[in-house]
Amino acid sequence: MEVNIDLAKCTGCGACVPACPFGLLEVVDDKVQLKEGCTLCGACVDACAFEALSLPAVMETGAAADDSRGVWVFAEQRRGVLKNVAYELLSRGRELADTLGTGLSAVCLGHEVRDVASLIAYGADKVYLVDSPDLADNQEDFLTHKMVAMVRELKPEIVIAGATALGRSFIPRVAAILNTGLTADCTGLDIDTGKRLLLQTRPTFGGNIMATIICPNKRPQMATVRPRVFKKAAPDAGRRGEIVKLDFRKEGVIARVKLLDSVDEVTETVKLEDADIIVSGGRGLGKAENFKLLAELADVLGAALGSSRAAVDEGWIPYSHQVGQTGKTVCPRLYIACGISGAIQHLAGMQTSDIIVAINDDPNAPIFQVATYGIVGDLFKVVPRLIEKLKNG
Ligand SMILES: Cc1cc2nc3c(=O)[nH]c(=O)nc-3n(C[C@H](O)[C@H](O)[C@H](O)COP(=O)(O)OP(=O)(O)OC[C@H]3O[C@@H](n4cnc5c(N)ncnc54)[C@H](O)[C@@H]3O)c2cc1C
Repeated sequence: MEVNIDLAKCTGCGACVPACPFGLLEVVDDKVQLKEGCTLCGACVDACAFEALSLPAVMETGAAADDSRGVWVFAEQRRGVLKNVAYELLSRGRELADTLGTGLSAVCLGHEVRDVASLIAYGADKVYLVDSPDLADNQEDFLTHKMVAMVRELKPEIVIAGATALGRSFIPRVAAILNTGLTADCTGLDIDTGKRLLLQTRPTFGGNIMATIICPNKRPQMATVRPRVFKKAAPDAGRRGEIVKLDFRKEGVIARVKLLDSVDEVTETVKLEDADIIVSGGRGLGKAENFKLLAELADVLGAALGSSRAAVDEGWIPYSHQVGQTGKTVCPRLYIACGISGAIQHLAGMQTSDIIVAINDDPNAPIFQVATYGIVGDLFKVVPRLIEKLKNG
């Protein structure tokens, strides 16, 4: 498929020629001509004042809403290992697909990816597996090209991906080429069953309101979701599904990025995201030294130390400990919030924790609305007693 040229309307003005990022257009005998390799980016269409260029009808309207079916999850991998976010999205994707009465597919692009069958155990009915050495490094132009081709051919109605560094960068390209909508960084996904619409909720206006966004006229409906927003369901090793192998050929795909090397960042010292237990402190701690009390509790419990943004802003603890919308999203088995009020931006990063214990001297603090156990009291009295009890049994 390529951009349509209506030669009767073309005046040969040449405005489209510099607009093509791939240099595929030229004017010959006062009419525009297109070379091979069109990605349907639409830049030339916008540049043409005479409406001589247009995208194929399927793109102008998106795939017709009625014939798009199925929920897809992009199963991100790195160095052949599937990322946890793929399983989290499959768990929520399963519920969305069941609500719609449709299938759930995982799309795995990579090389020699291990344990692909686990995607079925986590809820996929089908895994589209594209294995090629050229996909090993997640070269984004290659991923984009393949994903776009698959969506055009197989027409899913929903595509979701992790809001990871890769997801944030490559999925918007897919959405732009497909000329459909994308909601980035969702914190909730649901279905309007009557209209088969994906309800995509995310914080907006600086986190002050939660907006629910829909994409009524184009397909697929696309969204990215931060890791750990959804919980991974328990895998079911007995689930049956199908692995569909597809090929990838890089010939004809223009790769504008060349990966020279990849270096792992080692500056991160606080592994909050992986912690089973987190002890977190807020402005209620009053000063930096008081974090020593929380560090002692964390030590006894074998927990990581977290904080609210207020404590970070006060300079009491480094940003790497911040939990929330502009910090880390965590999902530990136990989250102990000490002197944290429970602002919506903090809750956005921790409310899916299995058990939440809140210690706060204000009985009306919003944190108690999400707490499994609430202790109304002065943290400077409660925490030392907790430490003593845990140490001495
Ligand atoms: C765009 C944007 C992004 C944001 N991102 C984040 C984010 O990622 N993470 C985040 O945390 N916040 C974030 N915030 C800030 C958020 O709105 C709140 O301001 C912040 O979470 C408040 O932190 P806090 O609960 O520690 O402080 P406060 O709201 O001041 O609450 C302190 C609490 O401590 C209690 N307390 C005081 N003394 C004691 C005591 N002795 N014993 C027990 N309890 C006591 C008080 O009753 C109170 O409930 C963001 C805000 C915006 C606008």
